[in-house]
Amino acid sequence: MCKCDFNYEKYLDCISNNNVKRCFSQFRIFSHHLEIELGRYNNIGRYERKCKLCNCNMVESEYHFLLCCPIYNDLRRKYNIRCNWPDLTRFKHLLSRQNFKVINNLANCISVRMKIREEKLLKNAKYFLFHVNLFAIFSSVPNKFFVKL
Ligand SMILES: [Zn+2]
Repeated sequence: MCKCDFNYEKYLDCISNNNVKRCFSQFRIFSHHLEIELGRYNNIGRYERKCKLCNCNMVESEYHFLLCCPIYNDLRRKYNIRCNWPDLTRFKHLLSRQNFKVINNLANCISVRMKIREEKLLKNAKYFLFHVNLFAIFSSVPNKFFVKL
């Protein structure tokens, strides 16, 4: 992504919270649970690995997650990750920053977003299962119990 040589990365010393450091490292090496990676293991075509949280109809890539997905607009503002016109150059530049404060800010922002993402997906899954269960319950009830309108 943004690594050109095999060397020790400065961000590993900048981030004191181990959970945040792990999350940021996973993001940088594409070892996360975004659809772009999950789809690879579930045999889903690259362009079908859409973001399940927004209506942008975009692949949930690291780029979408970090700079584009409207679900995280508030967090982008809160963590001062502004990007009016996101592009790949800006994305690479952001991930290769060496400034202590910027790295911590970015790592914390990614960590918080990953948690929010998991919570939203879990909530959506529960909502979906609730309705599947409702359908199963009502479809197994004999017709005579349904109220005709
Ligand atoms: Zn999205």
